[in-house]
Amino acid sequence: MALPPLPRPYQDTAEYWAAARDHRFVIQQCNSCGEYQFYPRGVCSHCLSSDLKWQEASGKGTVYSFSVNHRAPHPGFADDLPFVLAIVELEEGPRMMTNIVGCDPESVTIGMAVTVCFDDVTDEVTLPKFQPA
Ligand SMILES: [Zn+2]
Repeated sequence: MALPPLPRPYQDTAEYWAAARDHRFVIQQCNSCGEYQFYPRGVCSHCLSSDLKWQEASGKGTVYSFSVNHRAPHPGFADDLPFVLAIVELEEGPRMMTNIVGCDPESVTIGMAVTVCFDDVTDEVTLPKFQPA
């Protein structure tokens, strides 16, 4: 079974992936303006401050948009077909691209309440995904 392309943590994302490996869901919060952001960056996307902290997020959100994929873009996704690629709007505000799992792909709807879950893809890499709340 082929693995899908996996994230390669670097300076701005290492903390995010380390937390995911521990099944903790964290996002960045700006110490200057208080806003949350995702994806991880070296500066705040609202005020450009570099004074950021990692904050445990609720893991709750709603489906903002999605599509059901029936063709694998890479051999590593073939076993997951069909799968749901979605944009989830987090309770804290930021939106993130992810997968909706743990349900029939055809049952996913916009506005559906979802909660984070963790897919241990390898010993080193865990992907936060979302399932129906
Ligand atoms: Zn800020």
